[in-house]
Amino acid sequence: MPKTKKCHCCSRTLSVEKFVDISGAPNPKGRYCQACHLRKVEQKHRAALAREQSCIRKLKIVYGKYWRHYAAPEHFHATLQDERDFCPYCGTRFDDVIPDPFNESPVHIDHMDPLDKGGEHSIRNVVLCCGPCNIKKGKRSFMQWLEMLEPPCRDLAKTLYVEKHGHPPEAFVEGCPTARNAYELELALYQSEAALKKQYPQPKVNGPPSNQPTPSQGGDAPPEEPKETSGGQA
Ligand SMILES: [Zn+2]
Ligand SMILES: [Zn+2]
Repeated sequence: MPKTKKCHCCSRTLSVEKFVDISGAPNPKGRYCQACHLRKVEQKHRAALAREQSCIRKLKIVYGKYWRHYAAPEHFHATLQDERDFCPYCGTRFDDVIPDPFNESPVHIDHMDPLDKGGEHSIRNVVLCCGPCNIKKGKRSFMQWLEMLEPPCRDLAKTLYVEKHGHPPEAFVEGCPTARNAYELELALYQSEAALKKQYPQPKVNGPPSNQPTPSQGGDAPPEEPKETSGGQA
């Protein structure tokens, strides 16, 4: 086998040791050098982020300040990825998570309040975590799960929960299981922002989805908005 070859992207002739496969793992048979692979990954991420940010602007037109409740997590992977590059439950860096051959991504989307207990299927209720933590957590309530974490991760996980939900985890009220497709991005989101603004001069909702036990509103409610305190007691 030759010791050097040409990269299909940058056309540089490099040592075969510099080549990687599509997952980024060193592989002398790979098409691209590692530098080109990393650049492609970064470009893909930026493009995904731009698409998601456009979606978010549209959600804001349709759902106003409650948009986070209606943002289905599967459409916002790059946005969630930008939150952190390690598992908040055990601290493992996502780069170090060994991919499960039967699972296309080693990084899982975790519903902090489980769907089974009525947790919301929205970006405000999810974090990316490692597969083993997601499996260990299962259908446990977030309060039960916190008990199982090492103290530094427990503190971080609790802080994240409060930041994302706008209330402490003990304020969550269990309800009926939530359907995963409850708040699919609407067809409306395929329209332009200008068309949406015409159609929705005012947001079409004045609160979170009604089946959600939500004691207080999420992070971006304007400060002048009177805070509901009804369900907030610990
Ligand atoms: Zn290259
Ligand atoms: Zn983990």
